[in-house]
Amino acid sequence: MMNKVFSAEQLDSKDPIRHKRELFSLPENTVYLDGNSLGPLPKAAELRAREVVNEQWGRDLITSWNKHEWISLPSKVGDQIGALVGAKSGQVICCDSISVNLFKVLSAALKMQPHRKVIATTKDNFPTDLYMVQGLIELLGDDYRLEYIDEHNIEASLNDEIAVLMLTQVNFRSGNKINMKDVTALAHKHGILTLWDLAHSAGAFPVELDDAHVDFAVGCTYKYLNGGPGSPAFIYVAERHQQRYKQPLAGWMGHAAPFAFEPDYQPAQSIKQNLSGTPGVIGMSILSAALEAFDDVSLKALDEKSKKLQTFFICEAKRAGVWDAFDFASPVIDNRGSQIALKHKDAYAICQAWIAQGVIADFRAPDILRIGFAPLYLRFVDIEYAVAQLSLIIEERQYEDPAFKQKHHVT
Ligand SMILES: *Cc1c(COP(=O)(O)O)cnc(C)c1O
Repeated sequence: MMNKVFSAEQLDSKDPIRHKRELFSLPENTVYLDGNSLGPLPKAAELRAREVVNEQWGRDLITSWNKHEWISLPSKVGDQIGALVGAKSGQVICCDSISVNLFKVLSAALKMQPHRKVIATTKDNFPTDLYMVQGLIELLGDDYRLEYIDEHNIEASLNDEIAVLMLTQVNFRSGNKINMKDVTALAHKHGILTLWDLAHSAGAFPVELDDAHVDFAVGCTYKYLNGGPGSPAFIYVAERHQQRYKQPLAGWMGHAAPFAFEPDYQPAQSIKQNLSGTPGVIGMSILSAALEAFDDVSLKALDEKSKKLQTFFICEAKRAGVWDAFDFASPVIDNRGSQIALKHKDAYAICQAWIAQGVIADFRAPDILRIGFAPLYLRFVDIEYAVAQLSLIIEERQYEDPAFKQKHHVT
């Protein structure tokens, strides 16, 4: 057995961002390794929910659109998110879901490339990303096609027929992380526009959209950004494209002058064009408060802590002798996001047995136990406990209990 250099308690006491955990309302006796799927409840979000429902909606009614500036929430929250993904203000707006936003951006990007008909992406991209392309191509007709490229050999797959390269920066199963700056530069050499999905990036590590010259990006806010279930997503359109950009879901909120109520659509010449209908004020207000957890902490510090937590997990698992029960299905630490994937034929039942011991991770079909390391609130002692439980589950073959094999709707 290897000896520990530092105990979990020592690592926690040396953690420069340990105070951030207090900002969250976490259930007792739970180790939450699923913040990459649904972030936990920030205390500020809970307070804001009450305020927006009781005081703003309940008392101030429709005057709140001005009085509490509901009308500028999408831009304000967009800029809050922008600060976390390296976008200077006026380029990010908060609206709708990733799925709907992909439709808008893909449509607009194809229009900007009238002589090209190919959208390129990876086959194991998140399904909704693929489905949105498939739906759009069906609408646009046979000239258009979806082309799958190799995530591990992107350069060789690029050519001058591709209109848009749509990539998710961090693979949702394996955690494989693509070098955004290099790949964007390679795509631009071929005249390809880039669209990055930041679902597993935003709030987990530094993302530099402006610096990488990214054209477009989308992302959700209920994962590492802790905005709550179904909280609104975001869109980034680089400033240089905003004049030519025209998305087809032309709604009144994206009009240049929504309150002129004119019969003809005139798009806003700004990121606001992406607004289609009335924003979900309650969810967006809650999200705005949740994002305050990122005040006074750098994404670099979060990334560093995530890497330490991951390394500690792996060391502990090796020390406990449980590591060899799994096949490691993630790349090396510098090439992955804030998660690791462990393969096991009984991964589903193992995950359920872990949950029964208060450790929440998730399962991705067919055989992956997916473990998220959200650095704002996880402690090293949590990781120590999680590994000890995992070790018992494997040693005692607890996963063979039929109760843990029963499939639920949501995994
Ligand atoms: C979570 C996730 C989504 C979710 O899309 P919604 O429209 O918000 O449901 C999309 N893409 C990726 C890569 C994801 O990980």
